[in-house]
Order: sequence, then C-alpha cells, then structure tokens
Amino acid sequence: MKYHSLTNPNHKVSFKEAFLAGIAPDKGLYFPETIPLLSADFLDNIHLLSDHEIAFEVLVPFLGSNVAENDLRKMIEATLTFEFPVVQLKEECFALELFHGPTFAFKDLGARFMAACYRYFYSDSNTRKTTILVATSGDTGGAVADSFKGMAGVNVVILFPSGKVSEIQELQLTTMGENTFALEIDGTFDDCQAFVKTAFLDDDLRFLGLTSANSINIARWLPQMIYYFSCYKQLKLAGKERFIVSVPSGNFGNVSAGLLAKKMGLPIDLFVAATNSNDTIPRFLQSGKYDPESTIETISNAMDVSDPSNSSRMLALYNQDLELLKNDLVAYSFSDASTREAIQELYIEFGYQADPHGAVAYLGLKRALEHQPTAVGCFIETAHPIKFKHYLSNEVSYPSFIVDQINGMSSRKQRSFNCRSYDDVKQFLVSL
Ligand SMILES: *Cc1c(COP(=O)(O)O)cnc(C)c1O
Repeated sequence: MKYHSLTNPNHKVSFKEAFLAGIAPDKGLYFPETIPLLSADFLDNIHLLSDHEIAFEVLVPFLGSNVAENDLRKMIEATLTFEFPVVQLKEECFALELFHGPTFAFKDLGARFMAACYRYFYSDSNTRKTTILVATSGDTGGAVADSFKGMAGVNVVILFPSGKVSEIQELQLTTMGENTFALEIDGTFDDCQAFVKTAFLDDDLRFLGLTSANSINIARWLPQMIYYFSCYKQLKLAGKERFIVSVPSGNFGNVSAGLLAKKMGLPIDLFVAATNSNDTIPRFLQSGKYDPESTIETISNAMDVSDPSNSSRMLALYNQDLELLKNDLVAYSFSDASTREAIQELYIEFGYQADPHGAVAYLGLKRALEHQPTAVGCFIETAHPIKFKHYLSNEVSYPSFIVDQINGMSSRKQRSFNCRSYDDVKQFLVSL
C-alpha cells in the first residue's frame, strides 16, 4: 500500500515514510492510495474473533508491505492492552467506551500504536536522539507521554496551557516522570501550538531531532478503525442490526476513521459527527460552504477546533462529492447548556456517568434517532467521566482501581516547568 498527499496525488510514499514525516512536504495529509475491502467471511464471522485478530485483519492491508505479519501482531499486542466495552443504556441506546486505556482517553489507542511503530522502525538505530514535542489541551499530552514513557533515546516534552486542563489531566502530565517533561505555559492552547510551530522552524534546535506526535499522523489515524469493528461485533452479538454511531468530533480524525472502516465494508448505516459550538462541519454539510470561524472555548474542550484537519480525508473518502458524504454522515452542533443537561439526564435516567465529550455524542445520537426510529444507536465516550467529574452535580462513586490510580498520582511529586515566552521554552529544550 502506498500513501499520497491529499494536496498532490503524485507525491507517493510508503507507510514508513508517511509515518516518519507525519505530514507531506506540501502540507497535505497522507491518505491510502486504495481502500481495501474486507471479505464477507471476515464480517460474517467477526463475532468469533478477538479484538487483536480483528485489528490484524483490518490493519494488515495498510501496513503489510512495510511490517512483517508477526511484527504487526506484536505491535497490536503492545497497543491493545485494554478493552472497548459497549454498554447498554436502554433498548436502542448503547455507549461505546473508549476510555479504558492507561490515561483514560480514547487517544491512548492511536498514541500507543504510534509508539509501537516508532519502536519498530527505530529498533535498529538506538543511538538516535529524538524529542517529541506536543501541545495539548488536555488528553493528547497524557496519552503521548504515557505511550513513549521510558523509551530509550526519546524525550517527550508536553506544552499545556496553565489552569486550562482538568485537575486529573494536570496530574497525568506532571507526574509521569522519567523521560517526560511538562511545560506549563502562561497562555492559551493556541499559544502552546504557536510555540511548538516556532520550535520546529528554529535552526538552533535542529540537534534535538524534534518530532511531532500529531493526531493527523497516519499511525494514529488508521488504528482508530479497530474499535468500530469491535463495536459492530458486540452489537451483533447483542442481536442488533441497522446501526447508527455518534462520534464526538473536534479534528474529525475519529469519525473519519469510522467512515474509512465503512468504506472497507463495516456495516454501520450512518455516522453522526456531534460537535460543540465549533460547528464548521455541521454548517458545511448544510450549506456546502467551508467557512471556519474563530474557535470558541467550551466545556468539551478537546473538541474546540474550528478548522478540523481531517476534513480533507472525509472528502477524499467520497471523491469530493458532498452529497455522497451526506448519505453516510450527518453532523449536529450542541451548546454547553445542552451538554450540561445531557450529563444530568444520562445520570438520572440511566445511572450513566458521562463526560462532556460523550454527552455531546449522546445528544447527536438522540437527534439522529428521531429521524431513524427503527435504528439502534451507539454513542462514543472518549474520556473517562472522572476527568471531568465537576460537571456532574450529583455525588457519585468511581471504581476503586481508578480512584487508587488517581490517589497514586496525587501522592507523587509533580514536576513542571513554567514558561512565559518562546525563549523560556527554547531554553528548556536546549538544556535537555
Ligand atoms: C481528541 C478528543 C476528541 C475529538 O476527537 P477528533 O478525532 O479530534 O475528532 C473527542 N473527545 C475527547 C475526550 C478527545 O480527547
């Protein structure tokens, strides 16, 4: 399988090259040259397969030419160390929980697979020094730091906006230790991103071997298909058919991986992209005009994105035909007030604790089911509710192993470095 840049179809590279570069030299996203079809046999018998076996069948056509089959199996083993349970709330409503990974974030899966790719492609060059530099609004930083923790020759530096991540997210960023470093930036997430961009262009920092672990990297995008297949397997085992899946969306990597899975043959009838007030895609599907506005801060802050980078992948999947895309995807936007109400509703009606991102997806699913009353729906929970527990006004208890893990972090010494300017960031990097 080759990958091409979405802004220049003639620029073609292998998986390894696409993974190492992250983004094409012309700033286009990498995209598979063909979309492989899964066999009817695979889909008919999916209920007999483990998640590891499913992952292998789904990923082998994409990586097979670069990675030996046995090595791919090992990479999958290192990535999938947790499950993706589908939980039933009522007859036609399920939640797919993607937050059972080590940092309670759905981003654990993509970040872990990326780390496995890194280990694989660099195993022969362990003298190389690399610094992974990432800006985070909360979840990315923890997932990336955890995935690369302890890896020889690698340092991970995370920039987070002071006071703008949740208490637990901050603990995750600042207590991981070892080769992971948190820089607390006196500014916004956009400032963090701007510092990262400047650092990549800074000749003085060349020697550090700066690399990003950006969510648009093909190695983070492709494995996200795995849990859509796992979700289908679990719903099928529950005897259901005609499925709608609602995905809380920011950069649209997650939902576009679902659409890629559908193109490979996954029998999900409709996807819902549920957004917060950053509604560029819902407006785009309505009007056909792609018209991003400035980013709005919301309580589902991992989705505060107004110009989603994966839009080009979604359109590429449908040959730039918006009408075709609209057959498979609807998009709705919801306010913070509705999101808060949904968190309460889920708890009061079903005893279900949701975080703000999952609650937005639940609202999207409810809206879609109004139009398709005979379908069965599943919304995706992307972060553990304990990370955002202050949004649930009721006193609730959490599983003891999670509480223990958080207490463990709280008792560790926090380590972070305050930075007010780019020069502070640079000074830190140079001192590494
Ligand atoms: C990153 C993130 C999202 C958005 O996912 P995209 O792939 O960027 O659309 C949703 N929820 C949570 C908790 C996240 O961390």
